[in-house]
Amino acid sequence: MTSTSYRLGDHGPAVAQIRDHLALLGLLPSEPTERRGSQWDATFDDDVAAAVRTFQQQRGLIADGIVGPSTWRRLDGARWTLGDRVLRYGARHMQHGDDVAALQKRLLDLGFDCGRIDGIFGPDTERGLQELQRNLGLPADGLCGPVTFRSLDRLSRTVVGGEPHRIREAERLHHRGPGLAGKVIVIDPGHGGADRGVCANGLVEADVVADLASRIEGRLGAMGVTAFLTRGSQRDAPTASEIERAVFANEVDADLVISLHTDGHNSEHAQGVATYYYGTHSGEGVHSVIGEAFAELVQREIVSRTDLVDGRTDATTWDILQRTRMPAVRIDVGYLTHEGDAARLADPALRDTVAEAVLVALQQLYQPTTDLRPTVVQLPTPVS
Ligand SMILES: [Zn+2]
Repeated sequence: MTSTSYRLGDHGPAVAQIRDHLALLGLLPSEPTERRGSQWDATFDDDVAAAVRTFQQQRGLIADGIVGPSTWRRLDGARWTLGDRVLRYGARHMQHGDDVAALQKRLLDLGFDCGRIDGIFGPDTERGLQELQRNLGLPADGLCGPVTFRSLDRLSRTVVGGEPHRIREAERLHHRGPGLAGKVIVIDPGHGGADRGVCANGLVEADVVADLASRIEGRLGAMGVTAFLTRGSQRDAPTASEIERAVFANEVDADLVISLHTDGHNSEHAQGVATYYYGTHSGEGVHSVIGEAFAELVQREIVSRTDLVDGRTDATTWDILQRTRMPAVRIDVGYLTHEGDAARLADPALRDTVAEAVLVALQQLYQPTTDLRPTVVQLPTPVS
């Protein structure tokens, strides 16, 4: 029944099927089995034509009262509501139905491009679904099963407007529950191994950030946080690129990444501490909401506990910030090329204070009462 059309006056099994579907949708009274007679007696009468027109109007089809291929496809798919069956893309037989249309509408509402809402699970729908799954931290298998249904259900009730980046992070912030304990945090010494970074005023960037990293790591361990370093502190440790270190953070499914650097400048006057988060200034101005919030917290704590000059926070698109799937910040703790900053950083007490400031900022970030949520997203209850 894919190429034929059925209209007023037709008889036969196909018409019987059409009547069944319309009855199932409540558009025709259902007939008791004993009065139905042979399928060949089923008639496309005025009642059927009227019911077909109502159905077509409901679905935005041309209301001609004729069941052609597209009306048939919608009629046949109308028995499915989202969640009734697992949806997936099949190249040879594409699933279709109201559940597919509902999925497409939700994807579009959430800002994921899946083409037209046509009720057919094609390649575009698969791509949009995978994008959603990636943003929710789910396996991007393009399969709409129980896990994805549950996430969709929570999101569709709670999210206004399509801002997938924010959804991802709001989910992320809570994906291991509130509080610092139990979190996974990646600490990234920005230089190490053969890469020594800035060398000035008797200090080497790689050594300063390795020391800072181990001070932060020790504090995190004491707080019940699982801390990973992206490289060893040894001088002969293998040198990993920024992208490789970002991939590492993704692989361990970190909650947050903290990259550590010191700065250097041709001018000996450049000085101070600055913290960076992922974001662009041009175009749509995408940025990491949690990254920015944490950058603000860290910057504030370091500046208030030390006499380092406040170089403020800013959005950038460096690989360690952009390629990581979780919020990430990079802290540039002072300029080694600045005599005063170098003298400060040479003092282990200052490095200890910076580590303390990072920990306090983390506690604030993960404090259950701290409201860092963007106003458009009402947080769903955590799944696990
Ligand atoms: Zn550096």
